[in-house]
Amino acid sequence: MMSKVMRPKVIFVLGAPGAGKGTQCSKIVSDFNYVHLSAGDLLREERTKPNSQYGKLIDTYLKEGKIVPVAISCGLLKNAMFESHKERFLIDGFPRNQDNVDGWTKDVADHVDLQCVLFFDCPLEECVNRCLKRGAEGSGRSDDNEESLRKRIETYLSQTSPIIQHYNMLKLVHTIDASKDPDKVYEDVKKVMSKYI
Ligand code: UDP
Ligand code: MG
Repeated sequence: MMSKVMRPKVIFVLGAPGAGKGTQCSKIVSDFNYVHLSAGDLLREERTKPNSQYGKLIDTYLKEGKIVPVAISCGLLKNAMFESHKERFLIDGFPRNQDNVDGWTKDVADHVDLQCVLFFDCPLEECVNRCLKRGAEGSGRSDDNEESLRKRIETYLSQTSPIIQHYNMLKLVHTIDASKDPDKVYEDVKKVMSKYI
């Protein structure tokens, strides 16, 4: 019998801007053996590299709340997965639209085991308040202002929501009430994560 090669395990982490994806992922990695890869953080890091050919494009897309072409985001994620030499990943903030799903499906999906999707469900008004607070406190993010936020929310509703629906139909989604304070939310996250250790 041929032995099955171990495929890396992946959990997608999705939710509106400010829903707490990054905050909860940080908590998860302190208790569970997963590597946190934030697509947004990888893009922000790529943008700062002086000889990146994508710097300007990423800048524009982020400020406009638009979703960069999947070749860029998925390429960064693939690199980070490969370079980590680990085999369990929380992929935070990806996939956000159909282009992302298509690129991932074409390139990566068959080589990994998608365990589930954590969906942080939070009223948009609360999400906006959190991002504005984060911006005011000096998040340093060029997109934590009212103008960019409006666009990010618009993008989330029109492009990302349908993707979450799609995974929900496939019975892959765990919906978590993300409106509570971070420690309370994490109680629920832990219950879900304990199924995947
Ligand atoms: N972004 C993107 N593709 C991705 C992830 C992020 O284009 O796969 C861009 C997009 O412009 C988004 C921004 O990066 O608005 C910030 O994403 P992040 O996940 O950091 O922010 P959040 O979801 O917390 O608003
Ligand atoms: Mg984030």
